[in-house]
Amino acid sequence: MPNQPISGNDLARFSGPQSFMRLPEQADATGLDVAFVGIPMDIGTSWRSGTRFGPKQVRQESAMIRPYNLQTGAAPFDSLNCADTGDIAINTFSLADSLKIIESHYDALLQHPVIPMGIGGDHALTLPILRAMARKHGPVALVHVDAHADVNDEMFGMRETHGTVFRRAYEEGLINPYKVWQIGLRGTGYSAEDFTEAAGWGFNQRLAPDLWHKSLTGLGQEIVAQIGDRPCYITYDIDSLDPAYAPGTGTPEIGGLTTPQAMELIRALRGLNVVGCDLVEVSPPYDPSGNTALTGANILYELLCILPGVTYR
Ligand code: MN
Ligand code: MN
Repeated sequence: MPNQPISGNDLARFSGPQSFMRLPEQADATGLDVAFVGIPMDIGTSWRSGTRFGPKQVRQESAMIRPYNLQTGAAPFDSLNCADTGDIAINTFSLADSLKIIESHYDALLQHPVIPMGIGGDHALTLPILRAMARKHGPVALVHVDAHADVNDEMFGMRETHGTVFRRAYEEGLINPYKVWQIGLRGTGYSAEDFTEAAGWGFNQRLAPDLWHKSLTGLGQEIVAQIGDRPCYITYDIDSLDPAYAPGTGTPEIGGLTTPQAMELIRALRGLNVVGCDLVEVSPPYDPSGNTALTGANILYELLCILPGVTYR
């Protein structure tokens, strides 16, 4: 029997371990199919900080989630052995050092046949993850859900920040640009070409206004058809959601996706050969209700439910 989350009928939900969904904790990925890993970092962010507290609050809110997905039939814990492998010991005084620490941590995780589920943390953490992913899998397909394209060249002269991730990933050949989908983009820019330059590299972009009031099921199905069985990484920036749904984030943009759209999209991505996921930019100090972290925890759970090898009932 794979690891199971502690049931709320065996131990009250407000007690017990502070792991994701109160799964068993273990230090490395030995024997695991899925490893949840916290990356408590906010020194890559450009506006409001606070995502260093993201993993802690996402885990706390995840205690509410039950193992079976009654809407899709997914039973992830029937077939996948999952655990929480704790937090990466980043250096909060050095972003450059932290990114190296994250990369080597992922290199070690990926020695095992495990799917890492990162809990951020600001979006800068995705670059070192993609470096480790590409070392193992070659250039990966990418589903990037975000209000922002994160393709700046530099910020204050720094080439590695939460706003430069996907330009670096493109330049370094970590991703297949023709198999990149950026979904939910919107807001204001520094130049008229902020988005379109990346479209010229091959990125497939879906701006939020073009998705307003629409189901995202068809888009998800289109992405699955286009990516096929290539190794695919999914990075989910919580600010893709409208601030009405997810105010607890550092760089909110109005006119975003709805929570039902997020769920439609993820559920329609079932069938992808997902090799890793992250959920980034939850900043608890900006949402005392905890709803943003609750939503983030559920997005991670929905992603877990579409991983290869999940049993459906
Ligand atoms: Mn982002
Ligand atoms: Mn963003």
